[in-house]
Amino acid sequence: MSLMSWGMYPKIKNTVFKFTTAENLKEIINTNDELIPYGNGRSYGDSALSTNIINVKPKDYFLDFDEQKGLLHIQAGVLLSEILEHYVPRGWFLKVTPGTKLITVGGAIASDVHGKNHHVEGCFSECVEAFTIMLADGETVTCTKEGTPDLWKATCGGMGLTGVILDAKIYLKKINSQYIDQTTIKTKNLKETFTAFEAYQDKPYSVAWIDCLAKGDKIGKCLLMVGDFRDDGKLNYKLKAQKSIPFNFPSFALNNWSVRAFNWLYYGKSKNGVSKQRVDIDTFFYPLDAIGHWNRIYGKNGFTQYQFILPKETSYEGLEEILTAISDSGKGSFLAVLKLYGKANDNWLSFPIEGYSLALDFKIEKGLFELLDKLDEVVVKHKGRIYLTKDVRVSKETFEKGYPNIEKFRTFRKKNKMNSKFQSQQSKRVGI
Ligand SMILES: Cc1cc2nc3c(=O)[nH]c(=O)nc-3n(C[C@H](O)[C@H](O)[C@H](O)COP(=O)(O)OP(=O)(O)OC[C@H]3O[C@@H](n4cnc5c(N)ncnc54)[C@H](O)[C@@H]3O)c2cc1C
Repeated sequence: MSLMSWGMYPKIKNTVFKFTTAENLKEIINTNDELIPYGNGRSYGDSALSTNIINVKPKDYFLDFDEQKGLLHIQAGVLLSEILEHYVPRGWFLKVTPGTKLITVGGAIASDVHGKNHHVEGCFSECVEAFTIMLADGETVTCTKEGTPDLWKATCGGMGLTGVILDAKIYLKKINSQYIDQTTIKTKNLKETFTAFEAYQDKPYSVAWIDCLAKGDKIGKCLLMVGDFRDDGKLNYKLKAQKSIPFNFPSFALNNWSVRAFNWLYYGKSKNGVSKQRVDIDTFFYPLDAIGHWNRIYGKNGFTQYQFILPKETSYEGLEEILTAISDSGKGSFLAVLKLYGKANDNWLSFPIEGYSLALDFKIEKGLFELLDKLDEVVVKHKGRIYLTKDVRVSKETFEKGYPNIEKFRTFRKKNKMNSKFQSQQSKRVGI
């Protein structure tokens, strides 16, 4: 059976390889081209899709834990949820986690994912001490930032295009509660939203949900959620059972009106001004994981996430322009998440730069890609970039303008004979 990504678009035929030993994997790599590693398929677009797919998820052993250092050694197919299940009750949490816990450690390194605390902890690679990777010649290398700097900079954020990550050593952070003290700030427009983000910068975690159907002077109104862990010794964390969407919704179910109704319920029903709540890890970090297969609400044609980031200096103007264009287009997005980012790292294709990023989900329908092409022009004009792990359609030209280190990445792949061996639909499209 062919594998798909989380956006369920595109649907392409692929051969899926599994391996049990390093020798098996070496043989797969030696005898095939156009290979791409696949973790848990939570990337939205075509970065984990190719003619030949290497499924890494079954490699999910915990190898060692150094309690003194908080250093965990695991295989690359371990899910973040599995780490939480075993280590939150012992008082440890992930230093960096994205908005879903259902991703593999290999996928977290390959996309160099970030969370609600990028302005404090940076990307996932910043909590990695070392990883081992099988390269295009079938050799296995232990990679560290100091020992093999080019391989590190190419692999962290390199979307699986340098080889197959086999295991990693990652630092966890000490916590003394599975609860978070959350403050919610309701704002009336983009200006208030920016002021609130700046005012709460000292909080380690922050994220805003934007009403992207708002118009005129209400553009950019949001609910900003900020928080930090409590210190109450309550660590009784258990993974919750998911309720699942059993089938693809008909495509008409998600339209401007249903998004408007959702926004009214979510924004309209929440308290004005500033309010405080105590919430658990899953509610704060992973609200979407509560519903299994929620991607099916977008219908059988699938959906995509458009995520861009703009430098701080141009963020306000750029966001205003983009939110206006979306609101005018009438193409509503349930999910419109705004985050503040700290300094960029050195990795050649890592997404974050210092500024603001917005992520929007859209169902695949007529006219969508034309709208996104227009948004790309605004992103390029304001010196921003698109996030590869969400993307399924960005052009080579737009991509290149956002990532100034692209030539270093290309040269490295060529020099190490990686470019025909490891390829995805996306790498072919954007020419990497
Ligand atoms: C609900 C939801 C919320 C999300 N929130 C965020 C967020 O807040 N921040 C964020 O940064 N991302 C976020 N994401 C995106 C997600 O974290 C990334 O796409 C992540 O890389 C998916 O990991 P995966 O294991 O599912 O990998 P896949 O989707 O299977 O693969 C993703 C990429 O990693 C490569 N890869 C996977 N495993 C390996 C390996 N072992 N060796 C080498 N390369 C490998 C693949 O080739 C591909 O390029 C979110 C996704 C969802 C569905």
